[in-house]
Amino acid sequence: MNIKLALLKGDGIGPEIVDSACLVLDKVAEKYGHKIEYKSYLAGGCAIDATGVPLPEETLQGCLDSDSVLLGAVGGPKWDTLPGNLRPEKALLGVRKGLELYANLRPAKLYGALAERCPLRVTDGFDILIVRELTGGIYFGENGRREGKYGPEAYDTESYSITEIERIGRVSFDAAMKRGKKLTSIDKANILETSRLWRETMHRLSAEYPEVEYSDMLVDNAAMQLIRNPAQFDVIVTSNMFGDILSDEASQLTGSIGMLPSASLGEGTRGMYEPIHGSAPDIAGKGIANPIATILSVAMMLRYSFSLSKEADDIEAAVEKALDGGFLTADLGGTLNNAQVTAKIIEFIV
Ligand code: NAD
Repeated sequence: MNIKLALLKGDGIGPEIVDSACLVLDKVAEKYGHKIEYKSYLAGGCAIDATGVPLPEETLQGCLDSDSVLLGAVGGPKWDTLPGNLRPEKALLGVRKGLELYANLRPAKLYGALAERCPLRVTDGFDILIVRELTGGIYFGENGRREGKYGPEAYDTESYSITEIERIGRVSFDAAMKRGKKLTSIDKANILETSRLWRETMHRLSAEYPEVEYSDMLVDNAAMQLIRNPAQFDVIVTSNMFGDILSDEASQLTGSIGMLPSASLGEGTRGMYEPIHGSAPDIAGKGIANPIATILSVAMMLRYSFSLSKEADDIEAAVEKALDGGFLTADLGGTLNNAQVTAKIIEFIV
C-alpha cells in the first residue's frame, strides 16, 4: 500500500515524538512492503512565527491532499498571551473542521507493566475505547446571555440530529467490530430529549450489528462504573460533552499521559492522529519525552484509516514488550531517553 502522510510536528516535544513515530512506521512499512511518503507542514506556534497564523492555507491543503495526518502537539509559553483566534490550538480546530472530523477515538488502556501507576486497585487491567462525538451537541449549540426570571442569565443549548447520531454510532459499532464486539452507549435519557433521540437511534442501528453486544448506560452511572470496574467496558460511545468528561476520567486511570493516543475521524478513511498530551515545554529539546502516545497513534492510523490490523498489532505488541522489559522513559519511572525507547520498540518489530 502507498500512503501519503501529512506531518504536523508542531511545537515543544512535537518534532521529537513525531520523528520517533515515523521511525517505527518505517520499520513496519518495510516489514509488510508498504511505501510511506511524508510531507511536513507548519502548524501551531511554529506556524505563527513563520507566517503569522497558526494554520496556514498550505498546511490545511496539505492535509486535504494526504491520506492521513499525524500531529505532535502545539503551543507553549511563547504564544500564551496571543488573542484567542491567533492561539496555536486554533490549528487543531481548523484541521478538524477543514477535514470534517466528527468522531474522536480515545483509548484508555492499563498495561500490566504500569498497573501500580493506576490510582485504582485494578488487578485485571482494562482496555477501553471512548468514541466521542466531536462537532455537535451543547458545545456548538445556540448560546448567549439574556434577562431571565431571576435577572441576567446565560444559556447553552444542546441539539443532535438523527444524521449526526447515526454517523457517530456507525463509527462506534465499526470500532467495536474491530475490537471486543461490545458497545456501551452513554446518555442521560431519563432527563434529556437529545439523549432519548440518541438512544432510539443507537437501538435502531444496533439491529444492523447483531454481532455486537450493545447496551445503554446513564452518564452518572457510567462515571461511577468507570471507577468501580473499568474492565466491564470495551467501546463506549457518547455525546460531545459527556465524552469530554469521561475520556479525561478514563485517561487518568491509566496512570500516565505520555501513553495515550487518539484519532479523529470523519466520513472517509482520512483521519488525524495525535497523542492526547501537549507540547511539554518543560522537557522540550532534552530528548527525554515518552514517544509511546505518538507511536500508538500511528498504530491507530494503520488500524482505522488503512485497515492494516496486523501492522497495528505489531506496533502495539512491540510497545507492550518494551514496557514489560522495563525500557521506560522518566515519566514512567525509567532512565531511558526517547531515542533508546524508540530503538527498543523498533527492535521488537520482527
Ligand atoms: P502537557 O501535556 O504538555 O504537559 C503536562 C505534563 O506532562 C508536563 O510535566 C510534561 O512534561 C508531561 N508530559 C506530557 N507529555 C509527555 C511525554 N510525551 N513524555 C513525558 N512527559 C510528558 O500539558 P501542559 O503543560 O498543560 O501544556 C503545555 C502546552 O501544550 C500548552 O501550550 C498547551 O496549550 C499545549 N497543549 C497542546 C495540546 C495539543 O497540541 N493537542 C494538548 C494539550 C496542551
